[in-house]
Amino acid sequence: MARAFIGFGGNIGDTRQFITDAIVCLALRSELQILAKSCFYQSAPVEATGGDYVNAVIEIETQLTPYGLLHVCQAIEQEFGRERPYSNAPRTLDLDILFFEGVIQNETELILPHPRIIERSFVLLPLLEIAPDFFLPDLGELKTYLPKVAHQKIEKLPCKNCNCGEKDVYRPSTH
Ligand code: AMP
Repeated sequence: MARAFIGFGGNIGDTRQFITDAIVCLALRSELQILAKSCFYQSAPVEATGGDYVNAVIEIETQLTPYGLLHVCQAIEQEFGRERPYSNAPRTLDLDILFFEGVIQNETELILPHPRIIERSFVLLPLLEIAPDFFLPDLGELKTYLPKVAHQKIEKLPCKNCNCGEKDVYRPSTH
C-alpha cells in the first residue's frame, strides 16, 4: 500500500459538488482508501483564465501503481465533463496526483511529486491542513513555502455539517 495525495480544482459549474461526488467515486473503488479530506478553498486563477476556483486535497492509501492511479483520476475527469480546448482553460474538474509515496519521476505523462506542489497556495493550504508536517526529501517541510505563496488570493470556505479535515472521515467504519 502506498500513501498518496490528490489535489482537486475546477471553476465551471458546481465545483464543490463535483469534488464531493468525485471523492465518492474514488471511495467506491476497492484499490484505494481515503484517509483524509481537506476543507474546500476558493482561489483566484493562477496563470489561467476564468472565474475563481474551488480546490481541495485528499490523502489516500492505494494498491494501484502511480499510472494506475493517474488513469483512475483521468477517467473521473472525463466523467465530470472535463474538456481541454487550450492550455489552462477553465475546467469542470481537474485531478492532480501531488505525491505518491516512494516515487520520484519526471516523465511527461506523470511527474512526481507534482512540479507545482510548492508554488500554489491552493495546493499547499489544503494539503497542510490534513498533513501539517508533510515534507519532501528534496524540498523539506512544505509549510516553509507558505510565505512564498502568501500573495495568491485564497480563502477557506465554510464547511456544511461535515468533519472535513478530520482524519479517517471516509473510513468504511464511519460511513
Ligand atoms: P492538466 O491539464 O492539469 O489536467 O494536465 C494533464 C496532463 O498532465 C496529463 O497529460 C497528465 O498525464 C500530465 N501530468 C503530469 N504529471 C501529473 C501529475 N502528477 N498528476 C496529474 N497529471 C499529470
